Amino acid sequence: MSLYIVKFGGSSVAGIERMKHVAKIISGFIKQGHKVVVVTSAMHGETDKLVSLARIVSVDIDREYDAIISCGEQIAAGMLARILQTTGIPARSLSASQVPIYANGSFGNASITSVGVKRVFDLLDAGIVSVITGFQGIDGNGDIITLGRGGSDATACALSYYLNADECYIYTDVDGVHTGDPRIAVNTRLIPEMSYDEMLELSFWGAKVLQHRSVEIAKRYNVEIRILSSFTEGNGTLISGSINSPHAITGVAHSVDFNLLKTSEQYDNSIKVDNNLYLIPKNTNFSENVDVNVGTITVVGGETNKMVTNFLNSLKSIDITPKFVVQRRLSTTFIVPRSQIEQGVNVILDLIA
Ligand code: ADP
Ligand code: ASP
Ligand code: MG
Repeated sequence: MSLYIVKFGGSSVAGIERMKHVAKIISGFIKQGHKVVVVTSAMHGETDKLVSLARIVSVDIDREYDAIISCGEQIAAGMLARILQTTGIPARSLSASQVPIYANGSFGNASITSVGVKRVFDLLDAGIVSVITGFQGIDGNGDIITLGRGGSDATACALSYYLNADECYIYTDVDGVHTGDPRIAVNTRLIPEMSYDEMLELSFWGAKVLQHRSVEIAKRYNVEIRILSSFTEGNGTLISGSINSPHAITGVAHSVDFNLLKTSEQYDNSIKVDNNLYLIPKNTNFSENVDVNVGTITVVGGETNKMVTNFLNSLKSIDITPKFVVQRRLSTTFIVPRSQIEQGVNVILDLIA
């Protein structure tokens, strides 16, 4: 018998029918003899609505902001637990404080520091499925603190480690990690497996299929993640510590979440572009923004640095001339105007197809 952590993202629990389908997936694992702990995101669109609501009164990201925006997960967990119960599966919803899941850092962007496992293990022993709210932690004062957008992925990875789970399945609306974001890209392929470092690089540069911090947790604790679709059958993408060498070209990520800044200060996760010029993730406070209209196209993989000329030629063929090129061990990034991202991603995907 194995312990499965199964996490469902917003579109997987978007309504009652989707939740009933999720209940079938969970019941499938139980029928195979596995134990299951569920992590759920808020129903699709709910967190955005709560963020807008909070911002009507104040744009501060503070204690009350997190109290408001963490509610979506509470509703989804309660609903999913009820639906499981009506299908004959004993289930109990648990919030971060009920588990408990401890976190610290800034409101809106905290990191999990530890998880108390007794209650979940007791429920498992009693044959009860815990349905745990993703995205939430509690801080040293016992207050709700959220884990950054997409943070339910971090909840799933951390629980997998603390509960010593055998499998960590992350269910979403795509059938795995593709060579480009299927929402804007045409010529993409499913990537059956990749290393932590490749996924770290993809998510750092904007592939939101997994939250960047969740991949950091998975790598640190050697949690193997499988990304699956709750809409279609398939083997998805395995992200694992046993995969060491990166693909020559893994895929292409894009982002509009960086600011291009002239600064001499040091910021977390800043990437040097040129003399005193840095790309800085948008959630960082900053001083002088050089260009708000900036977008990034990043090719990830072990051999991208050798192919810069090929990428630049492809971009040039559709009149895209990047302002800057940033090279890292596993990636090459092109800084372009935002309006050119979609075309640029597609032309590079055609090149690497
Ligand atoms: P969930 O609510 O299930 O957490 P997200 O919206 O956070 O779902 O993540 C899934 C989305 O990630 C997909 O719908 C897709 O648009 C996006 N995405 C970005 N890059 C990729 C990629 N390389 N492969 C697959 N999906 C990607
Ligand atoms: N509901 C949260 C968000 O929309 C967390 C998540 O989906 O993982 O960011
Ligand atoms: Mg997500």
